[in-house]
Amino acid sequence: MPMPGLAAPERLRVRLEGAVQGVGFRPFVYRLAKQLGLTGWVHNSATGLTVEVEGAGDMLAEFERRLASDRPRASVVQASESLRVSPVGSAGFEIHSSSYSEGSDSQEKTAAVLPDLATCAECYAELFDPANRRYHYPFTNCTNCGPRYAIVHDIPYDRPATTMRGFELCPTCRHEYEDPADRRFHAQPNACPACGPKLDGATIVQATEALRLGQIIALKGIGGFQLLADARNVAAVARLRSLKHRDEKPFALMMPSLEMVQRYCKVSPAEQALLESPAAPIVLLEPSGISGLAWNVAHHSPYIGAMLPYSPLHHLLMSELPIPLIATSGNLSDEPIVIDNQQARLRMGSIADLFLTHDRPIARPCDDSVVRLARGCESVIRMARGYAPAAVRVSEELPPLLAVGGHLKSTVAIAIGHQVFLSQHIGDLDSAEARHAFETTIDDLCRLYNFHPQTVVCDMHPDYASSQWALASGLPVIIVQHHHAHAAACAAEHGLQGPYLAACWDGSGYGLDGTIWGGEFFLVEGPHFERIEHLRPFRLPGGEAAVREGWRSAASLQWETSGPAGIDKTICRMLERGVNAPLTTSVGRLFDAVASLAGVAQKSFFEGQVAMMLERETSLATSEEAYSLPAGDWQPLFRQVVADVTAGVARPLIATRFHNALVEWLVSVAQRSGVRQMVLSGGVFQNRYLLERAAARLEACGMEVYSHRRVPANDGGIALGQAVLAAGRMRGRRHSCA
Ligand code: ZN
Ligand code: ZN
Ligand code: FE
Repeated sequence: MPMPGLAAPERLRVRLEGAVQGVGFRPFVYRLAKQLGLTGWVHNSATGLTVEVEGAGDMLAEFERRLASDRPRASVVQASESLRVSPVGSAGFEIHSSSYSEGSDSQEKTAAVLPDLATCAECYAELFDPANRRYHYPFTNCTNCGPRYAIVHDIPYDRPATTMRGFELCPTCRHEYEDPADRRFHAQPNACPACGPKLDGATIVQATEALRLGQIIALKGIGGFQLLADARNVAAVARLRSLKHRDEKPFALMMPSLEMVQRYCKVSPAEQALLESPAAPIVLLEPSGISGLAWNVAHHSPYIGAMLPYSPLHHLLMSELPIPLIATSGNLSDEPIVIDNQQARLRMGSIADLFLTHDRPIARPCDDSVVRLARGCESVIRMARGYAPAAVRVSEELPPLLAVGGHLKSTVAIAIGHQVFLSQHIGDLDSAEARHAFETTIDDLCRLYNFHPQTVVCDMHPDYASSQWALASGLPVIIVQHHHAHAAACAAEHGLQGPYLAACWDGSGYGLDGTIWGGEFFLVEGPHFERIEHLRPFRLPGGEAAVREGWRSAASLQWETSGPAGIDKTICRMLERGVNAPLTTSVGRLFDAVASLAGVAQKSFFEGQVAMMLERETSLATSEEAYSLPAGDWQPLFRQVVADVTAGVARPLIATRFHNALVEWLVSVAQRSGVRQMVLSGGVFQNRYLLERAAARLEACGMEVYSHRRVPANDGGIALGQAVLAAGRMRGRRHSCA
């Protein structure tokens, strides 16, 4: 302890930005200041958190050190600023209520809204402790866990700004809420059976009974309704598929325990950490081969998407029900997830036999996230509950931009100051409902951050619903090429400055020449790029139909390599005349073609399926051999694949040689490029074998390799890239005018 009166007091003001609200940061600061004998205050601000502490100089230094090293686990500090100010002779340390005192009401809000966090170990223990006053209470939470993004309407994140505002704290809960020493100090959704949300509709016992009998239940979760059914029951799964109009896509599973996940899937320690993380996502895992799941759960997918219970309600349900459950979004196929009780009954009344709902409103729809492990890290495929909204900090200040992303796996982003906030997964914008959700998400994000965009950024594709919305918005529009946005998203996620080489490989994106790109190498510097190499173009007979039917791409390669012999007449005619047969450089379609030739799949039932199946084959073979793909010319590769198929070479070996060929192409372009930094982006790089082998080979050649982690490699990430590139272009324009 400092000896009072020996040294003149000094005062320090610290401002923190990032995910610092709703994570127990203020009580942490309070305890730390008390411990060090410092006076002053702390409060949440519109941009994060501000602290002033006063005391002896060495104690202030210690305070700063421990502020950085001991901060709450769930917090993310993106920027901090310390300033010496004049001492004011404060007495005691206080937590001030949130304020905007540092700016006016119209100030832009940049405090990161925290994602929803899965039930923590302490709350879990209380949930099953008969002596605890929250025993079996489905809405328990604390500063370390519980809903955040799902309940917040406004920033700063305080109870009146959440969907909990209608629930008056009882005296006991209020005491917890106000006691800095309590785990529930300023836990905004704090509640108990006396004062908090309650279940309505069925009871948990009725729900477990229904599930055991093979019925379908609709459960109101954290970010929306889920439909649940017994994953071992073929008839129940079939009924769910038909009622939901979801014929082929795999269903995700919720399992009561890690042990059960380990029974059905291979789980590495890193994958276990993902399953048990506060985000509690759906993790894509390799099946263990043990049967027991209904065949129709995920029959077209080589992987199983599994998650653990993440809310008290899920824990209570699953503790009574030691079986794997289908846990899928509560909606009709491809529609946005339902969050409202009334809407749920209206739209799912014919699907669900029973509703397990409650009276805590959900502020916005947020699906379960999907991740997989790659390069030893999490790689987010669908960014939603537990991850959204993502805040990416960039070095240069951004003008107020709204980026509307792509068309499939739509997300949107807003740029404020040094931050880009990326929305949760909205879905494919094919249906009117999805387009409505897209507009709602834009409104919601702008309202949450009190944000007024001055410019809209969209994709170059004229048929994307998002591009059409942008052009009709009445605001100035900046158009960004699809793959350039992919590259910039990955670079922004890593704070990478150019120049860098980018391999942008995906299913399709509108190219500068009006053809469908998807196998591109760019040299990127700031907002500029040069397309230095690409896959040899080929035609897609039938256009969109070729996306679902990979045999069409295979036929196209064959037609161009060895002529029309043996190819369907209609297809030949399309290819000869170039009618309804657009040109593409898509690596995604090359995957389809090779999968078709090798007999792995002729059709795909959902996006990315064929590539996943081909990737899975690589796990069954080990080979360093690669087909020949010189400068992206697939003709030698095509001949070699056909020769291998004819010679009866096993599929896993064909798949491996194909993947290896793509990697060697990456390496050869990298070596010729003259730059050391390389970005791998686009949906194709969700392929773990390809990504990991590419990274290893490129690193061995001295390259620094950047791939996606929190921001999806697929089109769910491009809104971020659009925002960064548009800002760069606007800066360039300003400079050239000056
Ligand atoms: Zn907790
Ligand atoms: Zn209470
Ligand atoms: Fe794409």
